[in-house]
Amino acid sequence: MSNHLLKHFINGEKVSGSSGRTLSVFNPATGKVTKTIEAASAKDTAKAIQVASDAFEEWSQVPPSKRAQIMFTYRELIIKHTDELAELVSQEHGKTFADAQGEVGRGLEIVEYCTAINNHLKSDFSADVSRGIDSHNLRQALGVCAGIVPFNFPAMVPMWMYPVAIACGNTFVLKLSEKVPSCGLRLTELMHEAGLPNGVLNTIVGDKEAVDEILTNPQVRAVSFVGSTGVGEYIYQEGSKNNKRVQALCGAKNHMIVMPDADLDQSSDAIIGAAYGSAGERCMAISVVVAVGDETADTLIESLTPKVKSLKIGSYNEPGVEMGPVVSKESQEKIVSYIDAGINAGADLKVDGRSETERDGFFVGGCLFDHVTSDMSIYTDEIFGPVLSVVRVSTYDEALKLVNDHEYGNGTAIFTRDGDTARHFTTNVKVGMVGVNIPIPVPVAMHSFGGWKRSLFGGSSIHGMEGVRFYTQLKTITSRWPSGIRKGAQFNFESGKDV
Ligand code: NAD
Repeated sequence: MSNHLLKHFINGEKVSGSSGRTLSVFNPATGKVTKTIEAASAKDTAKAIQVASDAFEEWSQVPPSKRAQIMFTYRELIIKHTDELAELVSQEHGKTFADAQGEVGRGLEIVEYCTAINNHLKSDFSADVSRGIDSHNLRQALGVCAGIVPFNFPAMVPMWMYPVAIACGNTFVLKLSEKVPSCGLRLTELMHEAGLPNGVLNTIVGDKEAVDEILTNPQVRAVSFVGSTGVGEYIYQEGSKNNKRVQALCGAKNHMIVMPDADLDQSSDAIIGAAYGSAGERCMAISVVVAVGDETADTLIESLTPKVKSLKIGSYNEPGVEMGPVVSKESQEKIVSYIDAGINAGADLKVDGRSETERDGFFVGGCLFDHVTSDMSIYTDEIFGPVLSVVRVSTYDEALKLVNDHEYGNGTAIFTRDGDTARHFTTNVKVGMVGVNIPIPVPVAMHSFGGWKRSLFGGSSIHGMEGVRFYTQLKTITSRWPSGIRKGAQFNFESGKDV
């Protein structure tokens, strides 16, 4: 692939950046630079925000059903271009082509949700809240909203944001991850092909300089962030300080509890997909298995070990590949340093994938640790790679406590045949997304995605009705018409019961 120059997409046009800093995009399967882009400067970002602000008044007055028509056309275009979009994802992220197609499909479901935006925006009406007085509410758009997205879902995570915000009548500035920009830029072009007016969606590629402009520019009303906890906490604090609505969806350490009564063959298959799919670079990946009872742990380790050893690793376009590379050299080095730390801390490394780092590209083979304890960094930290820790506990109560004591609370799962245990777990676990015999319980489009504890700052989950609420502000109108007005001034604060 030739090394070509990417451009930002502002006001319906492809434009160069002006920061003077070049960002390189890699093919992680080869380790080679394939594309470059001049990072968006603060000035470029301010321009994108200004354009979005100028477009807001007209766009917010387009009836929701008309906005939905664009979403219908957009849906058709995404379906038509799914393979092209998936190819862009795989080339820059490294995940397998089938996984990338699945990701585009999950993003598409959000667009489909937005085709019914009139239904989600409809308001409540109460007749006769007092004599002759009615009350109703409106959900109105905020203005310019911004999205800052991570590398690991180049198609789906942007689509968690801008389709919902735009369908609600907002205009949008999308700051893509500098590691995987091509799919988001192509999705932006397709949105314009679907009939979106210029200025409503402006997409830039940049780093901290662009982000800081978003966080301080007074024209930005709301910021959606998805990424690591350190950056997310900064974005939440800075954005809130500047009076913006902020939702920051962050890092994770997802535990899967396996009870002795679970189907251990099914559990083992579920673990393989959930821990090693997408090379563990999913915020909902299972990175800790909590085996209840030594017998459960021994059976699982025996079943998992050969499967991890035989994972087919390679480039996304090689037939039969199950796991691609990790995204960058830095990620590869960070993951290897955690594996070293796990060994030094005394965990039992059953499968060592470090030899895969000798290939070209940014590969790490699947790793499996047994006898991991809660004080080890491989347990406490998000590694974001194909490294699975098995922790052994004696009872369900110990397993639940482990999950609840962890600083992250994004996703979790329990594998059991016992309804009482499952119900106790779903009720008492301090985690935002919970699976029962489902290893990666990612909520579908009409539900909302979001963690608890240090996996989410700002309290607002993303997409579904929570997304509509995040991107709108509520106005409540109380009205009385002349025939309902009593003569004479009223000085008391009336309630409906007084009249
Ligand atoms: P990241 O935090 O490095 O980057 C996310 C975004 O923030 C990017 O657009 C990046 O350009 C920007 N950014 C990076 N450093 C910055 C800084 N110092 N100041 C301002 N902006 C900065 O995350 P990543 O490595 O791209 O993605 C992986 C992380 O995202 C993991 O922690 C993963 O758990 C998390 N994630 C969370 C969810 C969720 O829904 N909770 C979903 C996907 C990914």
